[in-house]
Amino acid sequence: MMKYGWNDHQQEQWLELQHDGTLTDSMVAGRVTLEHKHMYRVVTEEGEWLSVCSGALLHRAYDRQDYPAVGDWVTVERMPGEERGIIHAILPRTSVFSRKTAGTTVTEQLIAVNVDIVFLVTSLNDDFNIRRLERYLVAAYDSGAVPVIVLTKSDLCDTPELYVDQVQSIAFGTDILTVSSKTGEGIDEIVSLLQDGKTAALLGSSGVGKSSLVNAICGGTTMTVQTIREDDAKGRHTTTHRELIALPAGGVLIDTPGMREFQLWNDQESMDGSFADIDALSASCKFNDCRHHAEPGCAIQEALADGALEEDRFASYLKLQREIAFLERKTNVQAQAAERKKWKAQTKSGRKA
Ligand code: GDP
Ligand code: ZN
Repeated sequence: MMKYGWNDHQQEQWLELQHDGTLTDSMVAGRVTLEHKHMYRVVTEEGEWLSVCSGALLHRAYDRQDYPAVGDWVTVERMPGEERGIIHAILPRTSVFSRKTAGTTVTEQLIAVNVDIVFLVTSLNDDFNIRRLERYLVAAYDSGAVPVIVLTKSDLCDTPELYVDQVQSIAFGTDILTVSSKTGEGIDEIVSLLQDGKTAALLGSSGVGKSSLVNAICGGTTMTVQTIREDDAKGRHTTTHRELIALPAGGVLIDTPGMREFQLWNDQESMDGSFADIDALSASCKFNDCRHHAEPGCAIQEALADGALEEDRFASYLKLQREIAFLERKTNVQAQAAERKKWKAQTKSGRKA
């Protein structure tokens, strides 16, 4: 299991479980590599099993925290003769990336757990943004993972020291690495941080060079991403990929869609500011709920017509709004399902009492 980030800490916890008598002979240690609609892909020394939670685990579960998430170490039992497993317990977590959501229903969304190092990635050109880096740092500290700041595309920058100085001023004591996926500068340092089965995740806006960095860390070999096809409830095929990658040189990388969404939410806060012109325009639309299509008195359409607002800029504004609306809908659906479940569990235990 070393390959998937098993270390002394997990070993200790495992011995404790053995000591408690919680473990039976048929249970082995596994790590959750993918979460998909109450099913989990779990890698173990004996293979990779599509797993579900045991009835006892589900009965104990109330919060999102009580369910497995990508990165979790679990005790799992193989169903005889099948490539399937049953998860009995979750080992205590060392770090949790989660997003608290506003509103009355959703409380928490688990993004990734047991991340040792989180690389906060920003590039040494146009994308460099110290405020954003500050927010990433806060997110990292909240999670319990150790942040390392990675400044990418050093080959495009003549004065990386100036950037490093700025970063130092907001991130005392945090390691700062300057790298280039093009020339290979700094890649060895990143790889060496991941020795000893360390688990890492990346946080950084689109375009800063995260995929290129991952490929560079993987030694130039393109990541082999195993595609799994699973039927969703409506019988459609949805394609998902492995979200936890064991790196050839040691260490593990967690890359989940949730991490990308987390990113988007993080950036949204600053987007509000950067689309201030559009917000100001829409405030002077005739209708409060103007959708800026063909409504009369639409200030945005007027601005587009006379060139005061560029089409491209408005298009990226709309794209962001759509993405956010999508995430909100998705979160609401999850919230309602969680609420129903919680209610069911409570009434069940009420009947028993
Ligand atoms: P991601 O969206 O964060 O995954 O970013 P990508 O890895 O897809 O990179 C975005 C763009 O930046 C691509 O055109 C890359 O070729 C380029 N890029 C990434 N890393 C470097 C680098 O170290 N140097 C240079 N010059 N370009 C880079
Ligand atoms: Zn309008």
